[in-house]
Amino acid sequence: MAETAFQRRAHVVGAGLAGLSAALRLAKAGWQVSLYEAAAQAGGRCRSYVDAKLERSIDNGNHMLLAANTAALAFVAEIGAADRLTQPARTAFPFLDLASGESWTVVPSAGVIPWWIFTAETRIPGTRACDYLAAWRLAVASPDATVADCLDSRGPLWQRFWVPLTVAALNTHPREASARLLWLVVRDSFARGAAACRPFVARRGLSDVFVDPALAALRAAGGSVAFGRRLRALTFDGARVAGLDFGDERVALGPGNAVVLALPPAAAGDLLPGLKVPEDSRPIVNAHIRLPAGARPTRVLPPELPLLGLVGGAADWLFLRDDVASLTVSAAEALAERPAEEIAALMWGVTARALGLDPAPGASDQPVIRIIKEKRATLAQTPAALALRPGPRTRWANLALAGDWTDTGYPATIESAVRSGAAAAAVLAAI
Ligand SMILES: Cc1cc2nc3c(=O)[nH]c(=O)nc-3n(C[C@H](O)[C@H](O)[C@H](O)COP(=O)(O)OP(=O)(O)OC[C@H]3O[C@@H](n4cnc5c(N)ncnc54)[C@H](O)[C@@H]3O)c2cc1C
Repeated sequence: MAETAFQRRAHVVGAGLAGLSAALRLAKAGWQVSLYEAAAQAGGRCRSYVDAKLERSIDNGNHMLLAANTAALAFVAEIGAADRLTQPARTAFPFLDLASGESWTVVPSAGVIPWWIFTAETRIPGTRACDYLAAWRLAVASPDATVADCLDSRGPLWQRFWVPLTVAALNTHPREASARLLWLVVRDSFARGAAACRPFVARRGLSDVFVDPALAALRAAGGSVAFGRRLRALTFDGARVAGLDFGDERVALGPGNAVVLALPPAAAGDLLPGLKVPEDSRPIVNAHIRLPAGARPTRVLPPELPLLGLVGGAADWLFLRDDVASLTVSAAEALAERPAEEIAALMWGVTARALGLDPAPGASDQPVIRIIKEKRATLAQTPAALALRPGPRTRWANLALAGDWTDTGYPATIESAVRSGAAAAAVLAAI
């Protein structure tokens, strides 16, 4: 019995959410699990850290889950962190048009019939009910169709709904994003009504919800975690992986030993001969702004989940946590090329306008701002890139792949990362 337990040893490389999900699943299935991470901390693209400039703990970028993200929420519940997420009492997304000053709130209807689009008072200003009904074209889109191929890219619904939804869900502009993948998002959220669209946000920070409790659960299940371990190479013996090379440490794999590579696509592609990965990625820029002590927002955000959708300006979302306003710009190819100081000035202007700061601040009042550019925030979710997503199984019997970019059928998000980890663990369970 002890011998069997020893032999079922899994080496999971990469401690982002995909690796954490795989490691936890394997440990709970009785494998002896070693998790390796190149960085000094776990979490990958979904993590918190204490920022010396802001003197606050911040996230690398704002993250939101929807109730439709069932695997991600089940993972959070499994690691005992469900109460570390906050959600509003009712599903409602407040929006502001920074150019025109108009504001509205998207409140999806309770059931599957979207009553909210049939009344002028509840639908987005300037739109007509028939505009929304064109969404059926996404449902029948061909695999190579973009969102712009299916929907009318003129008019308020495009600017105020389809662009914000597509860049938020796919981090890719709708002129190049996959229509099929966006349909999946719409089908699982808006088409199911308010309950499926309910947003969840980390109350204190991403690591507090997703990372620290996952590491604790892994250790409690007997797993070990090693930081500062960058996998440099794999050695192969026919159809099996025979060893891991971490530079200063080599790990030989005996019979019954297996590997999960839960790495970003480029890293997996470098390590595995012949693996074709989607290389095209899109950046996300976040600005974290410590509001000046005397700042008095005149726009009131919902207290239980203070977030605001933005259109007609340089940012997509504003999240407020204590005295830090965090702005997100998705599919930020052009912005990410600009110097951080320029982005900071731009984002401070957006923040002042979005929150209606009183008195309106001058340029010299610019507070402490941290700009975080995640240059490879997600893969480009274009039809061409999505066609390159590999599944968890590889040509090496004891090696499985995980990562939000693998073919989970879901957009490259936390949901996909968690699902990919479970899928990789299922592949190893069958060897
Ligand atoms: C700014 C931003 C905002 C986002 N917003 C949302 C959102 O609102 N909702 C949502 O669901 N998703 C969002 N996402 C996407 C989400 O963060 C990712 O889908 C998810 O975190 C990916 O997890 P992963 O484990 O697949 O990859 P990663 O987090 O990239 O993990 C891979 C890990 O492997 C490590 N590694 C790399 N090379 C090696 C090596 N050779 N050896 C060992 N370790 C290595 C890396 O350091 C990293 O820790 C956002 C992402 C960003 C960047």
